[in-house]
Amino acid sequence: MMEDLRARIASLRRMLASTAGLIGSDYATKEQAWEMLEGLFSPLAHALTATAIALIAWHNWYVYGSFASVPAAVIVIGTFGLRLVFVRRYHRRGLDARVSDWVRLFATSSFIAALGWGSSLSILLYTTEGATRFAVFALICAPIQGASARAYAMPGVVILHISIVLAMISVTATFFGVTVAIPLALLYLCYQVGFVSELFTLRTRMLKADYDHRALLGQVTRYNSDLAVMNARLSTFALTDGLTGVSNRRDFDQKLKQSLQDQPMCAVPLALLLIDVDHFKRFNDDFGHLIGDECLKLVAAAIRGVERADDFTARYGGEEFALILPATTRIDALKIAERVRHAVENMDCRALPNAARGLTVSIGVGIAVANANIQPRMLVEAADSALYLAKQSGRNCVRDGVASGQTLQQIA
Ligand code: GH3
Ligand code: MG
Ligand code: MG
Repeated sequence: MMEDLRARIASLRRMLASTAGLIGSDYATKEQAWEMLEGLFSPLAHALTATAIALIAWHNWYVYGSFASVPAAVIVIGTFGLRLVFVRRYHRRGLDARVSDWVRLFATSSFIAALGWGSSLSILLYTTEGATRFAVFALICAPIQGASARAYAMPGVVILHISIVLAMISVTATFFGVTVAIPLALLYLCYQVGFVSELFTLRTRMLKADYDHRALLGQVTRYNSDLAVMNARLSTFALTDGLTGVSNRRDFDQKLKQSLQDQPMCAVPLALLLIDVDHFKRFNDDFGHLIGDECLKLVAAAIRGVERADDFTARYGGEEFALILPATTRIDALKIAERVRHAVENMDCRALPNAARGLTVSIGVGIAVANANIQPRMLVEAADSALYLAKQSGRNCVRDGVASGQTLQQIA
């Protein structure tokens, strides 16, 4: 109970402190602020009040032949006219309009409206009698409720507005002997303050939730883009050989499969080079594995130096590399293989510390003829057999092989 009361008082204090501006200015976006002002400047409640007051003035004249209530109608219609001028200005505001300027203008227009409603309702009280006066009392409640209902945006200004109207009316009523009017007006004011404070709490909570939601959404978007970058990096890592930086065996297998699937569409053959470093075990034994590693990097770079735009270099495993040559004839594949062999032979391994001699490679060339239905395994076997031949032929040379199911005439 005490907790609840304390929370209500805290909410009330926050609400009254927001008199100078729109509530939730820390959380609301510009669009939300303009939206709240749109609701505040809506002239509908004014139009209804002006109509009701004019109706009572007309009734007083029509039934009692009295023009005494006409000033009330004149004042409220004048107030309404002024509000329309403000609304017009609001709708014609420029692109550089500032929320705070329009908040101040609304506070001014609300103050003028309170004086207009208070004085016209007081005049009605003064100039009516009997049953019509009951209608006036009922009418007093309507604009006050209307103002309260829109108080979620500027509760402080609205409470000030309601207080002015109720004060003017209760003073008039007391003047005419209805002394209970002041305590009644005070009770009514308390009721309205409670209602407005409830609205204020709900609205603040809503704006805060919306603010948190936007902040979270921004965070999720940032995390998602970070994740996309990480995923891209991860897939590159998953397909790259850690030592030499060329594609790894997994990437090679996918690439060869894809290249052979595309091959039936090609009018020219596809070639595969298997490149094996000669006597690498001995090289390692002589100069150490670390120098061996450096040399493997140089071999990979030498192959990349020869490859063309659509060619694909990969580390097949250990000291073996593969080079896929799409749309390449046997003659051109042999020329490229020769270029690779030459590049490695001329590679300056001796520049590496403790490396007393250079390296050579043996190369086997496998060919898949144009429009052929060759499986990756068959092409690798052909290149591997050719590589074996190259080793048999004394190493540091190029040999080619025919994949099973093809004839020499076909690939020549
Ligand atoms: P051949 O001319 O018949 O191919 O002889 P080789 O010695 O190159 O062939 P072998 O298959 O007997 O040895 C391959 C060597 O390659 C053995 C292994 O230590 C070495 N090797 C494989 N991967 C790496 C690597 O990542 N780094 C280093 N430094 N050596 C490697
Ligand atoms: Mg080998
Ligand atoms: Mg070898």
